[in-house]
Amino acid sequence: MNDTPADCCADPSQKLLSVEQGRQRILDAVPVISDHEQLHLRAALNRVLAEPVVSTIDVPPFANSAMDGYAIRYEDCTGTSPCTLTLIGESFAGAPYAGEVKAGQCLRIMTGAVMPAGADTVLMQEAVERDGEQIQFDPARVKAEQHVRHAGEDTRTGQTVLEPGKLLGPAELGLLASVGVGEIRVFRKLRVAFFSTGDELTSIGTPLQNGQIYDSNRYALHGLLSNAGVDFHDLGVIPDRREAVRDAFRQAATMADLVLTSGGVSVGEADFVTETLEELGEINFWRMAMKPGKPLAFGKLDDAVFFGLPGNPVSAMVTFYQFVLPAIRRMSGAQARDPLVFEARCTNPLKKGPGRMEFQRGILQRSADGNWEVSTTGLQGSHVLRSMSLANCFILLPAESSGVGEGDSVLVQPFSDFGVS
Ligand code: AMP
Ligand code: MG
Repeated sequence: MNDTPADCCADPSQKLLSVEQGRQRILDAVPVISDHEQLHLRAALNRVLAEPVVSTIDVPPFANSAMDGYAIRYEDCTGTSPCTLTLIGESFAGAPYAGEVKAGQCLRIMTGAVMPAGADTVLMQEAVERDGEQIQFDPARVKAEQHVRHAGEDTRTGQTVLEPGKLLGPAELGLLASVGVGEIRVFRKLRVAFFSTGDELTSIGTPLQNGQIYDSNRYALHGLLSNAGVDFHDLGVIPDRREAVRDAFRQAATMADLVLTSGGVSVGEADFVTETLEELGEINFWRMAMKPGKPLAFGKLDDAVFFGLPGNPVSAMVTFYQFVLPAIRRMSGAQARDPLVFEARCTNPLKKGPGRMEFQRGILQRSADGNWEVSTTGLQGSHVLRSMSLANCFILLPAESSGVGEGDSVLVQPFSDFGVS
C-alpha cells in the first residue's frame, strides 16, 4: 500500500480516524483483567496493585534524629551565648537511651536513633564545641524541634499507602516494605500471542534468497512485550495464505487476552489479516490518520482483544507505543496516565504534508542555553528501523501541520515515557 493522500481516501465510506479518537475507542473497548494473585513483595516488581494498602504502623515508628549530633531540651536554649549542657549518655540507631534528658543535660545521638524522653531538639555536631562531658553552642542559632523526624511523618497508621491500579516500581517495593507488607495482591499478567505474516519473511540464521527479508518485527515485539511486563507467546511467521492466517488466528485466540499480528493489514492481494478478523471476530476500525502506521486493525477475536499492526517495522513500533501499550496498561489494571509530551525547539526543518498526524523520530537534548532542542534522525521512511534506534523521542506533528521550519517549537514525547531509554 502506498501512502499518498489519494490512497487515504480510496474508500470514502472508511473515514480516517484521528489518533486521539483511535486511542480513546481502544481504551473504551478493552476489558480489564479480573483475576488477581497474591505475590511476595520482590516478585511483584512491575506488576499492578489490585487492592488498597493501608498502613498498620507509623513510619517512622518513633521520633528520631535526622543528624549526628546532640539531643537537647529547647527550653534550655536561653540566656547569652554560649549555652553549656552536660552530656549524660548516647542513643544509637537501634540502641535507644533508656533514661530521660533533664534540664541542663544533653545526649549524644546518631541519625535514625530514638529521641530520648525529655529532649525535643537536635544540634548538629558541627554546631557544637565539645569539651569532655560538656558541650557549648550559640542558643540564638537553634530552632525548636530542629533535625527531629516525628513519628508518622512519612506514613501514619491507618493511612492508605498505595491505591489499586498502581504500577509497582522500585520505590513502591521499598514503600510497602517500610510499612511491613511482605505479600501483595496484584492483577495477573496479561497473556499476549503474536505472529508475523508475510511470504517474504525469513528467520535469522537462514541465508536470504532473492525477494526475502529477515523478520525483524518479531524481535522488536519480543523487546516491546518483555518491557511491557506481559506473558507472551511468539507463534512465528505465518505465510500469506488465507487458511494459514485463519488457523493462526484460531490458535492465538485460545491462548491469549491480546492477539497481535504484524503485516497483511493493507489492501494488497496477499493481505488477509483484516478480512480474517472480519470473518472470525469483530473489526472495530482499521485506518488511522497517522504516519507511519495508517493501516492498523483493531477489534475482537473471541474473548481476546486484537491488534493487526502494519508490517513496516517503524509503523509496527509506533503503533505499538501509541495504541497497544496504553491498551496493555489498561487491560493489566493500571491507572490511566497522560503521555509525557512537552515542547522543544526543532533544530532542522521537517517536511510534512497536511492530513495525518506524524510521529517523526528525533534526538532530544539540552542545548547550550539550557533549553530542550530536538533534531531529526534523518530518513523517515516507515521501513527505516535505524531511525528508531537513533532516536530517543517522537516528534509529534499534528494532522493539520504542513511542515516545520528551523527553530520552530514542536511537541516531543521521550521514549522514556514508554519505559525505555
Ligand atoms: P505488509 O503490511 O504486509 O503489507 O508489509 C509492509 C512492509 O513491511 C513490506 O515491505 C514487508 O516486507 C514489511 N514487513 C512485513 N512484515 C515484516 C516483518 N515481520 N519484519 C520486517 N519487515 C516486515
Ligand atoms: Mg505482507
